[in-house]
Amino acid sequence: MVVSSTVLQQSLRHLDQAYGRFFRGEARYPRRKKKGRSRDSATYVRTGFKWVEDPGRPGTGLITLAKQSEPLDIKWSRALPAGKVPVRLSVTRDRAGRYFVSVLVEERIAPLPVVFVPGTREPKAVGVDVGLASLVILDDGTKFDHPRLLKRYAEKLARLQRELHRKVRGSKNRQKVREKIARLYALISDVRRDMLNQLTTRLVRENQVLVVEDLSVGTLMSAARGKGRRRKAKLNQAIVDASWGELLRQMRYKCEWYGRTLVVVDRFFPSTRRCSACHVVGPRMDVSVRQWTCAGCGILHDRDVNAAVNLRDEGLRLLAA
Ligand SMILES: [Zn+2]
Repeated sequence: MVVSSTVLQQSLRHLDQAYGRFFRGEARYPRRKKKGRSRDSATYVRTGFKWVEDPGRPGTGLITLAKQSEPLDIKWSRALPAGKVPVRLSVTRDRAGRYFVSVLVEERIAPLPVVFVPGTREPKAVGVDVGLASLVILDDGTKFDHPRLLKRYAEKLARLQRELHRKVRGSKNRQKVREKIARLYALISDVRRDMLNQLTTRLVRENQVLVVEDLSVGTLMSAARGKGRRRKAKLNQAIVDASWGELLRQMRYKCEWYGRTLVVVDRFFPSTRRCSACHVVGPRMDVSVRQWTCAGCGILHDRDVNAAVNLRDEGLRLLAA
């Protein structure tokens, strides 16, 4: 049994809330509940398991569930805070058949000091744009690429999905392909989550206000035509949606922990088409357009950086209002 663990460091006040979010947001599996298809999970309170910390590797140790003689064979993804006793743990099984143990410990987290724009009393803000060309783009022009691994996985996923369509409904072979797809999805979300974790930790440390766009309803890809293109566009949209969902989930709880402000800008705000310099709103652009020149002031914009600047400014405007 492969087991990985995830640690939630959280003050008690927010335990339940974050716990629910943690599981809801972890991966993009179908919402539909169906036997054997969705996540199975079990929660254990303090009396439901035994914990023995490993003195050689503090923060890790043996967990034995009630009514079991052997401790779980755990591959620790992260150590718990040393010396803390888990208050609750949850064992889940995902569609790929992998088991996860999530361990909850009580810990008070002190908010970080407020970050100002150097030499001013303005809170330092960052606009965060999520995209297909780059995973995340900041208003200062910093770009974080999609992990190269993900591109390879995405291609493999597309291949498997084509294969799935060719298999007879209800057949064993179809089931096999489906399981492969589920394992790949799980792998993809792991890689993405790790990368975004590093990124969101940094963003929260360096900024007081974080601004992101509401992408909860996909609008980007509606223009694509043709069956092949549509499928590709759908896949691309799924990639952007998943990144955005995970980014938002992490920013939400980290902002809460560390005393930062998160602003989610309405999806009707024209972040891409608006010139961040003169605020003229241009025509709609195809997703393939990476650069454009403003008809109002003649500035050449990088599509994504301009969007990130607009988000930052709009977020600050909303805060001030
Ligand atoms: Zn302009």
